[in-house]
Amino acid sequence: MVNKGPIEVYAVGGYNEVGKNMTAIKIKNDSFIFDCGLYIPPIAELEEKTNNYTTQQLRRIRAIPDDMWLEQQGIRPSVRAILISHAHLDHVGGVPFLAQRYKAPVIGTPFTMKVLDCIQKDNNIKIPNQIKSVPPNSSIKIKGDKNYDVEFIHVTHSTLQCTFVVVHTDVGAVVYANDFKLDNYPVLGQKSNIERLKEIVKSEGIKAFIVDSLYSEKYAKTPSEKIARYMLEDLFMTLDNEQSAIFVSTFSSHIARLKSIVDFGKILNREIIFVGRSLNKYVSAASNIKMAPFIKDIQTFSYSDKVKKILRKVNENRKNYLVVCTGHQGEPGSILDRIAKNELPFQFRGDDHMIFSSSIIPTSINIENRDKLDKKIRKMGTRIFSDIHVSGHACREDLREIVKILNPENVIPAHGAYEQLLPMTELLKEMGYKQNKDIHLMQDREKVVI
Ligand SMILES: [Zn+2]
Repeated sequence: MVNKGPIEVYAVGGYNEVGKNMTAIKIKNDSFIFDCGLYIPPIAELEEKTNNYTTQQLRRIRAIPDDMWLEQQGIRPSVRAILISHAHLDHVGGVPFLAQRYKAPVIGTPFTMKVLDCIQKDNNIKIPNQIKSVPPNSSIKIKGDKNYDVEFIHVTHSTLQCTFVVVHTDVGAVVYANDFKLDNYPVLGQKSNIERLKEIVKSEGIKAFIVDSLYSEKYAKTPSEKIARYMLEDLFMTLDNEQSAIFVSTFSSHIARLKSIVDFGKILNREIIFVGRSLNKYVSAASNIKMAPFIKDIQTFSYSDKVKKILRKVNENRKNYLVVCTGHQGEPGSILDRIAKNELPFQFRGDDHMIFSSSIIPTSINIENRDKLDKKIRKMGTRIFSDIHVSGHACREDLREIVKILNPENVIPAHGAYEQLLPMTELLKEMGYKQNKDIHLMQDREKVVI
């Protein structure tokens, strides 16, 4: 059957906030959902009270996408697949709570699906949906009114096996591009597969481009992960003869960054230990797909008694260890938070070192939590090294680059609130696009037909 457009695009979540990403598209009788993420800040508050939450609780605090709206739009029965772009919680974290509402498989790259497996176990949930792993740079056929090719094209970001998800339709390709950066020197894994994108442009053209516009206001090109690696190397060289404690905290899902930390940690001749549950979770998912080359150089500790035991040892022989731990956002319950509250048998002292290979995700709760944490650590006289980090998100000039390459017919800025998405519309206007004609600036619970 010939299935010519139009295509309906539904902004479900991630258009009023940085989090709970979800977008749906409908072509005649077939729909696809892209991503199903969590909005973390309200959960951080909830987590102080409980560890296991229900879908209803998460809906009430608006931590998951409002897919009830999607249901009101009549989309639910036509969903053929839930397509997950990458392993960050704001993209995959909602799946255990919402996927069972759809008679559709959940599909993503092996690393992403491994992480999904871990978060299901963490929440004591087992979704009934079929789970399908598709290697980066390959495709899968989805049956609807017609057969669709859905392609997962590798792009660089700040976790492993991140992809642009491409749904091929009779009126051109729909490219879902949350999240990415254009890194010419990735520390782990391949460069973005621009060649394949160019082929698609040539063979069928891009009908719609749903794109991570979070940093579209930054007049810059996002620096390569290699820069963060040099920053770490530079810092570790100066710490070479130190006798005091060295702690590092970074995003647990940032496997390339963890690799750099271990690589340079080795020159310090210290035992490298990873402490905290989320670190263990992502590292074991990476190891499972053979993408944690540093696994032989580290020991991991996640359970309470073992964490206490090893931290007691660190406290007594601080010069023997390099500790990589959770807590760079000051998250309640993280290792750093518990150390600062004297709940663990390690105390920071003067001349100890606390390295944050991260940036603060700018929500009021994170800023407040980190501020409290920093004050407590500083009070003990410890040296703090902040922002040993580069971002995983494209800046304005990367966005210009990718739009030039893809030359899409329609652009839908995504991954942020109105203020974050607006600069992307200005960039697009510079490039000859027109608001409401081929630029579609959307909010959560809005639909556009293209
Ligand atoms: Zn991401």
